[in-house]
Amino acid sequence: ADLAMYDAKSSTGGMRLYEPDLHATSPRRLTLVSELRAALHDGSVVVHVQPKAELASGRVVGVEALVRWEHPERGWVPPDDFVSVAERSGLIGLLTTRVLDASLAACARWRADCHDLGVAVNLSTRSLQDPALIDEVTGLLLRYGVPAHRLTLEVTESSVMADPGRAVALLDQLRALGVRLSIDDFGTGYSSLSYLQRLPVQEVKIDRSFLSALRGDGENVAIVRAIVDLGRHLGLDVVAEGVEDQATWDLLRSMGCHLVQGWHLARPMPAEELPGWLAGRRSA
Ligand code: C2E
Ligand code: CA
Ligand code: CA
Ligand code: CA
Repeated sequence: ADLAMYDAKSSTGGMRLYEPDLHATSPRRLTLVSELRAALHDGSVVVHVQPKAELASGRVVGVEALVRWEHPERGWVPPDDFVSVAERSGLIGLLTTRVLDASLAACARWRADCHDLGVAVNLSTRSLQDPALIDEVTGLLLRYGVPAHRLTLEVTESSVMADPGRAVALLDQLRALGVRLSIDDFGTGYSSLSYLQRLPVQEVKIDRSFLSALRGDGENVAIVRAIVDLGRHLGLDVVAEGVEDQATWDLLRSMGCHLVQGWHLARPMPAEELPGWLAGRRSA
């Protein structure tokens, strides 16, 4: 089949490389799984990082690591095209390990370069149920000499709700290590707000669907304002993701939102490019 190249620069994300619902035993899906397995072993699955800044000061405080697969023929394959495949084929443990390793290695390099930045890593539903994660995170923090509070793990409401008992137990253990925890895509889940108190989280990320149409949309403004206020009252950091323009930035600042992430600040970039980007920003 002719597969379109993923265009990393296209704002629409380009064409889909794989249909997400390919049948489990279809030949294309099996090819995809074996290619992904090879890629996880040969270093062509890497992370890009997207900076996060304090709204009040504009200071960059950390980055989110976003996994990318550099395919020899197809170019950069976005995570939505392979993370769920990894989940269903038993490769997610290896993927999470690769991402954690690359993220903490990069964080250690930045620290050696006097950039004291945090790094946030996304956890999938399966990883959130894997007790081996505790030893793995402990080992990697030690190996790279990164303080636990510089690592944030992002989980979605729906991945917690897939098995709340196990997820909460694992999150409690991660929290006991000193790792920060964040609820990603906040506001899109089906769960009630009451679990927010039960989860040992320090941060919520407002889903970018609320931000993309913020200006001129009274309902979205009300939702975002409510989440910012909720976060403040519960003592949580609030991150607005997917901020694409100055007007949204200003509106969020007037609401008292703490942190922003989005194309208006920077697109995701290879980890090696971050120090240069930071330097360019200072001299601008
Ligand atoms: P997410 O965690 O909600 O990540 C934010 C997504 O929004 C990223 O897409 C990012 O590139 C994109 N984004 C950032 N700023 C803007 C903006 O201003 N405008 C727009 N339109 N988009 C923006 P990406 O990198 O394609 O990742 C998609 C999803 O894949 C992530 O959503 C996350 O759920 C998942 N993912 C990414 N990396 C990993 C990983 O290492 N492990 C796991 N399990 N999932 C990952
Ligand atoms: Ca995320
Ligand atoms: Ca998100
Ligand atoms: Ca998302």
